[in-house]
Amino acid sequence: MAEIHTTKRLGGPVTCYPVRLRPGEEIKSELLKLVQEHGLQGAFVMSCVGSVTKAKLRMSDSTTVKKFEGHFEIVSLVGTLSAGGHLHISLSDVDGRVFGGHVIGDLVVFTTAEVVIGNAGGVVFTREPDTQTGYNELVTNSNHA
Ligand SMILES: [Zn+2]
Repeated sequence: MAEIHTTKRLGGPVTCYPVRLRPGEEIKSELLKLVQEHGLQGAFVMSCVGSVTKAKLRMSDSTTVKKFEGHFEIVSLVGTLSAGGHLHISLSDVDGRVFGGHVIGDLVVFTTAEVVIGNAGGVVFTREPDTQTGYNELVTNSNHA
């Protein structure tokens, strides 16, 4: 039987920021810019639907980077936005096939991207080097400390 791990409650309520991105805008950079401009320290993607004409994704082996061009529906976009962000995306092609990976960038909007950014009140996301993974990994703290 799986063990349930609980974590301490760090913050207050989540605030929602709905955003619509327009054709030609790059999703990752626009979202990171909005988060920085508004000083959101616990921001994450709550929801995203839309379409893109491009994507640059890192594959599951952690090294292969692939570029995609065409018309793709955004099936899912998840991850954190504060502290530089960490996003994963699922896209579907014209045949309905789904693929995805770690977002490097180049998510150029085709028709629209309807995004709801959530911000966990009182929470500060940071990234710190993790010797086990070799990556800067997410660390969460309360800003009420
Ligand atoms: Zn990743």
